[in-house]
Amino acid sequence: MEDCIFCKIAAGQIPANKVYEDDRVLAFEDLNPQMPVHTLVIPKSHYRNIADGIPDDELGYLMNTVKKVAEIKGVAESGFRVIVNTGADARQTVHHVHVHVLGGGLMNVDSPAQV
Ligand code: 5GP
Ligand code: ZN
Repeated sequence: MEDCIFCKIAAGQIPANKVYEDDRVLAFEDLNPQMPVHTLVIPKSHYRNIADGIPDDELGYLMNTVKKVAEIKGVAESGFRVIVNTGADARQTVHHVHVHVLGGGLMNVDSPAQV
């Protein structure tokens, strides 16, 4: 999609520090990390957010990629938090669905709500 920053990252038009990639998904480091581990996971196809009619198969594949990312980043055992900001009240700023994978330290109940 034109003018979508994450589509451009998926297409290789904007650089990103890649963590995992295959033909359907891409995981890359967040530009402004909120935790020692802060990786974003996106489908290569454009959907605005989790409420944008993502096919079950696509959504399932995206969420199973989270586990791979947690293993690659070394937080699968220690634990991690998954956040999918959706819409205005959640302050979604990039309108290409993305899963935040946060970890590498003990999180409290409040602060990651700002991610
Ligand atoms: P949102 O608030 O939409 O859930 O989060 C968007 C996230 O994307 C933010 O954590 C922000 O730091 C990250 N982000 C925005 N632009 C870029 C970019 O160009 N590259 C990378 N790697 N992350 C970005
Ligand atoms: Zn996009």
